[in-house]
Amino acid sequence: MVKKNKAIFFDRDGTLIKTFVSKKNIPIAIKNIKDLRFENYANLVINKLRHKYYIFIITNQPDVSRGKNTKKNVVLINSVIKTKLKIDKIFTSYSDNEKNFMRKPNPGMIYKAKKIYDLNLKKSYVVGDRCKDILAGKKSMCKTILINKKYNSKINIIPDFKINNLKDLLLIIKV
Ligand SMILES: [Mg+2]
Repeated sequence: MVKKNKAIFFDRDGTLIKTFVSKKNIPIAIKNIKDLRFENYANLVINKLRHKYYIFIITNQPDVSRGKNTKKNVVLINSVIKTKLKIDKIFTSYSDNEKNFMRKPNPGMIYKAKKIYDLNLKKSYVVGDRCKDILAGKKSMCKTILINKKYNSKINIIPDFKINNLKDLLLIIKV
């Protein structure tokens, strides 16, 4: 098998798994394993893309720092997602500090993966449902794909691509 040198960095909540949405139409991360539901096509899309790309998740879980969720819950949810979707590695930031390099929109988690897996980031993609994901991708020279969720939060940055569901990734990334 040819050694891979590129990756797809997926956001977790609202991208690969379903979130709750607040009354103000803002996504809220699930806290309990019983609420875990995958987005449509997550498995299918990842199974195709893994042939040529490493598959990573980069996820902010600041509720842990805020005392609203436990690290144990996050670790459990992540481990089930990792197994079910066959993710190569999940990078998690528990920080609530916008300046923390490992927290999106900062690119620390992506750079960490680059170092471990020797990646060409210009051939890699970041896929997410929020501005923070797209910004982290731009800062690290990845190509960026926004999944249009129509949340009540401004998207004040232009991604390279916009799609309406995960399946459309296969129209953009050819494998
Ligand atoms: Mg998200």
